[in-house]
Amino acid sequence: MPSESLTAGEIHAALDQLLDHRDSDASGTVLGAGSDDLAAGRQFLQLLFEGGWMVPAWPTQYGGRDADAGEVTRIANALADYEVADLYPYGVGLNLVGPILLDRGSVEQQDLWLRSIADGSEIWCQMFSEPDAGSDLANAGLRANRDGGDWILTGSKVWTSRGAYARWGMCLARTDASVVKHRGLTMFAIDMMSPAVEVRPLEQINGDRHFTEVFVSGARVPDSNRIGDLGDGWSLTVEMLAHERATIGGRAFGGGDDGDQGLPSWLEEWRAAGCLSGPVARQRAMRALILHRVNQLTVARNAANTSASGAPGPEGSGAKLRSVAAFKARAYLGKDMAGSAGMLSGEGHVEFLTAPSMSIRGGTDEVQRNIVAERILGLPAEPRVDKYTAYADLKKSR
Ligand SMILES: Cc1cc2nc3c(=O)[nH]c(=O)nc-3n(C[C@H](O)[C@H](O)[C@H](O)COP(=O)(O)OP(=O)(O)OC[C@H]3O[C@@H](n4cnc5c(N)ncnc54)[C@H](O)[C@@H]3O)c2cc1C
Repeated sequence: MPSESLTAGEIHAALDQLLDHRDSDASGTVLGAGSDDLAAGRQFLQLLFEGGWMVPAWPTQYGGRDADAGEVTRIANALADYEVADLYPYGVGLNLVGPILLDRGSVEQQDLWLRSIADGSEIWCQMFSEPDAGSDLANAGLRANRDGGDWILTGSKVWTSRGAYARWGMCLARTDASVVKHRGLTMFAIDMMSPAVEVRPLEQINGDRHFTEVFVSGARVPDSNRIGDLGDGWSLTVEMLAHERATIGGRAFGGGDDGDQGLPSWLEEWRAAGCLSGPVARQRAMRALILHRVNQLTVARNAANTSASGAPGPEGSGAKLRSVAAFKARAYLGKDMAGSAGMLSGEGHVEFLTAPSMSIRGGTDEVQRNIVAERILGLPAEPRVDKYTAYADLKKSR
């Protein structure tokens, strides 16, 4: 099995045997929008599994290769040169749940779930948001009551991406309503195939059909599926969200789709199509390019910080903000450049139709700015009137 830290040349030589080279620097995915193609991603993950190329930092027995930080970076850079399947359906497992299980899960939980995440055989979703808990996520009210060695979960979640095809859900639940809202939460892995779990689709304007609301009616969950300690759900949530923002504020949003040489492919395409002949169009295109470059630099700085500290921090919120701004500028301008055809809905407009959601998913722009203000710039925290009140005594909308 692989163990030595490989050079970039050795990594490319190994990947040449498995993958086709990319013929352009175009973004490989719009976060799965409208496609929900599970087979291509699973095949891709299985291809990379034995060499540990997809999750190189993970232990070898779980589908990684015990790579050090330098090798992880070299592999990520090398993979950018090849055709990569759309891995959006597998994103929660690979980028959020895997790192959490490695950091906070028991050995039994790691043995049970990590390999099936790495080879794509099991998909995970993130069950955090509720009708009364979005930006104010600590207000989550889905209940988990103890019943012998099990827990009985009851309540509902909403905006659950990938819920339509997930096998497991990482579910934030209220285990103690008598303490303040941040302290009475616990994280569970819930079996989405349980008859007590009902998944209802919510179709988005970009064609996504994996988006769902989930109703949980007395689902029995063994205590062995509790992730982390009892009452420790908030710290796991914060850690998972930091991973999510670091992931969104990165390549998947087009953050690093081209090198710092030349122009990105979308700008070349606009030029070749004659869209940049007028001064106003050129001005807007330059604004989109500047946002793109600023995003690349912010993403690189965030990645360097994460690599140095060993875990993603609040800088991911800044990276997410920059990535969203760059993505939206490109998507809206791309629609305008298409002229009257830009008003017709079609495959080419998936980016335009996906763009508004970017400012909401993974935490809204306003919430990211609050994090940057309070945790990076050290500005005064906004008032939190419910900080010292037990969850049970808080005013609820229903
Ligand atoms: C495409 C998409 C995919 C998603 N996928 C998932 C998923 O897989 N799992 C999951 O659990 N959730 C998911 N979400 C939910 C997402 O995390 C929430 O929608 C988001 O956190 C906002 O919560 P909310 O919708 O309840 O809005 P609210 O929290 O009600 O916010 C409403 C408005 O008020 C603003 N606001 C709220 N609080 C503050 C504040 N303190 N300061 C300033 N402004 C504030 C917000 O910025 C927003 O503009 C997804 C959402 C989208 C759009």
